[in-house]
Amino acid sequence: MNAGGEPRLRRELVRAARQLDAIGQNRGSSGNLSLRCARGGCAGMLITPTGMGAAELRPRDLVWVGDDGSAQGGWQPSSEWPFHRAAYRRRPDVTAIVHTHAENAAALACLGRGLPAFHYMVAIAGGDSVPCTPYHLFGSEALSQAVAEALAERDACLLAHHGLVAAGATLAQAVKVAVEVESLCAIYLKLLPLGEPPRLDAAQMAAVLARFRSYGRARRG
Ligand SMILES: [Zn+2]
Repeated sequence: MNAGGEPRLRRELVRAARQLDAIGQNRGSSGNLSLRCARGGCAGMLITPTGMGAAELRPRDLVWVGDDGSAQGGWQPSSEWPFHRAAYRRRPDVTAIVHTHAENAAALACLGRGLPAFHYMVAIAGGDSVPCTPYHLFGSEALSQAVAEALAERDACLLAHHGLVAAGATLAQAVKVAVEVESLCAIYLKLLPLGEPPRLDAAQMAAVLARFRSYGRARRG
């Protein structure tokens, strides 16, 4: 487990929630964040509670949810905890998940579209696109499966008619990916009224991915 132990993870998670709120990526109690956190030898995560905004969130408000779904804490975990668990199960290298309803990502997701390779930074999600999963009810098993499947190959995906999910080997990386994908969605939405933008080809994107890996920034560098 993290060298600073659970108290440090709690502080980190609250700090990230406030950061996302401050830069307008999440408003009110929409969106949620989690960090992988074992307890007494049991796999699990710390996750933001349901219905609580970042401004009022304190480290002790975070809920621990075990891999078996049991929750420990003073509040109910976010209703979207099942897809966090599904993502951690599918990606052993991931320690943090960020989920937002950021405006531009949500807008593109409402069209049921993901991001193609129209800009080289799309590679920040670990491939030549950011996929959009089909719509499923929040908190449902179907949504969990769709998220796990999308994140098997990428560090981010859009959720149709909903928002975005980003994963990282660290919380800082997951936040960085979420913020960058939101920004790319804003650019893509600006371009769409002018027609579908030209795309970088497979070789161009492969070169970007290779460069990212050599910088040690890609997910499996
Ligand atoms: Zn959501």
